[in-house]
Amino acid sequence: MQAENVITTRTSSQRQKASPQCRCGNKTVYFRAYNGESLCAKCFNDSIFEKTKKAISKYDMLHYGDKVGIAVSGGKDSTSLLYVMSEVMKGHGSKLYALTIDEGIEGYRDESVQNAERLAEKLSVPILVCSYQDFFGFTLDEALEKRKDRQVKSTSCAVCGPLRRRSIDLAAEKLDVNVVATAHNLDDMLQTFYINLYSGDLERIKWLDPSFKQQGKNSEFKLRRIKPMFEIYEQELAFFAYQNNLPFQSESCPYMNEGIRTEIRNHLNALEARHPGIKYSTLKTVLGIATSLEIGDARKRITRCEKCGSVSTGPICSVCLTLDVVS
Ligand code: SF4
Ligand code: ZN
Repeated sequence: MQAENVITTRTSSQRQKASPQCRCGNKTVYFRAYNGESLCAKCFNDSIFEKTKKAISKYDMLHYGDKVGIAVSGGKDSTSLLYVMSEVMKGHGSKLYALTIDEGIEGYRDESVQNAERLAEKLSVPILVCSYQDFFGFTLDEALEKRKDRQVKSTSCAVCGPLRRRSIDLAAEKLDVNVVATAHNLDDMLQTFYINLYSGDLERIKWLDPSFKQQGKNSEFKLRRIKPMFEIYEQELAFFAYQNNLPFQSESCPYMNEGIRTEIRNHLNALEARHPGIKYSTLKTVLGIATSLEIGDARKRITRCEKCGSVSTGPICSVCLTLDVVS
C-alpha cells in the first residue's frame, strides 16, 4: 500500500497563536500564520525587504550596471515593488525606472496610473507611461467590444495578456532598460502553475523557473525579466502597501473574473486558511518541477514571428494572433 504523503503545514488544531509582542519587544501588528511569527511594524517591513533581497541574490537577478524598469500598474503589489526596489537598489550601481502601461479601461486605470505617477515622483524615480492606444491604436475597452461583435470566445485577460507583455517590451525598449522587474507574488506563481497544469502547457510551467531566460548573451531574449517578490504572499504585500501608506488602487480590474484564475485563487486561499503554509510548500514543489523540466526542445522552437518579426514560439506570435481578432 502506498504511504500517504505528509503535508507539513499546520491544521487549525495545531496552529500557533499570535503573541501580543514581536520578538524585539514591540507590539505585534502582523501574525505570519505559516511559520508562527508575530511581527511588529518594523520587523514586518524589514522581513519584506529581506525576502526581496534574498530572492535577488539567490537567483542572480541583478548585475552591476543594469538599467532596471519596474513595471508599475498602480496596484498594491507593484507599488510595493517600486518602493522596495528603490531602497534595495541604493548603492547597487544600477539605474531604476518605472514603466506603466495604460490598457485603456474606463473608470479603472486612470486612478492607478495616477497612483504610479505619484509614488514615482515621491521616490524620485523617472516614470514612463505608455498605452495600448500608443502602441496598437485602440484601448482595451474598444478591443473587447470588437471581440464581442466578432463572437470570439477568449477571455478578456487572454486578449489583454499578450498586448500587455508586448507593451512592456516596447516601453522597456523606449527606456533602454535591459531588465524588467514585475511584481508577481507567490500567489500569482501558484495560480499560473495551475492554469498551465490544467491546459497542459509545460513550456509556460518552465517559465516559472526564476533562473530561466536569465542566461543573457546566450538567450534569444534580450530583456531579462525578474520577479523579485515571487516568494512573498499576496496578502503580505497588501499589508505592506497599507502599512507604508503607499498610494494604490484597491479596486480590481472589471474584467478579471472571467477566467479560471479567480477560481484557483479562491481555492488556494481556502486551503491556506485551513492549512497555513500550504501555499509556501506548494511553491517549493512548483519550483522543483519548473527547474527540472527539460528546456532543450522549447528553446529550439523559439523563432521569429512572420508578421512582426518578434521572438515567438510559433510562426505567428500571440500578439499578432490577438490583433487579428480585435483590430
Ligand atoms: Fe488585463 Fe486581465 Fe489584468 Fe484586467 S485583469 S488588466 S484584463 S490581464
Ligand atoms: Zn507578431
